[in-house]
Amino acid sequence: MNPVYDLGDLEKYALKRIASHRYPGDIHTFKLLVCPVCGVVPLALTIEHHSGSKKGNFRGVIYGKCSSCGESTRIFSFTGSQREKRREEKPVCKCGHTYFLVGECERIERENGLVGFFDEGVVVGKCSDCNRNRSFVFTD
Ligand SMILES: [Zn+2]
Ligand SMILES: [Zn+2]
Repeated sequence: MNPVYDLGDLEKYALKRIASHRYPGDIHTFKLLVCPVCGVVPLALTIEHHSGSKKGNFRGVIYGKCSSCGESTRIFSFTGSQREKRREEKPVCKCGHTYFLVGECERIERENGLVGFFDEGVVVGKCSDCNRNRSFVFTD
């Protein structure tokens, strides 16, 4: 059995980072990015930035290495086939720890009562050692 991880305020933090209070009419979804085998476990991330990736407007892929089974899987992708890999980043918490519980929050526009399109998103994480929250990438 896996231990149960305390996600605490991670969802609230993600909603705050995406400024959900400014878009009360839109829909915000939050989901955890997990190991396909083990479920909710801390992951060590590799963030691959592709061409055209900017701060606040990420293009690329995020891989998560499971702290339990060691498998590395693609947990997030926001890119196109014409884009090329430019650089790689391996996030480290201020405490030095590299494993995070990871979640993704998206804002979906709602117009005239109809569910519209993806507007913005953020990928956030909670350090599994010191519980500090941080954001990794924003998509727009
Ligand atoms: Zn696993
Ligand atoms: Zn930490």
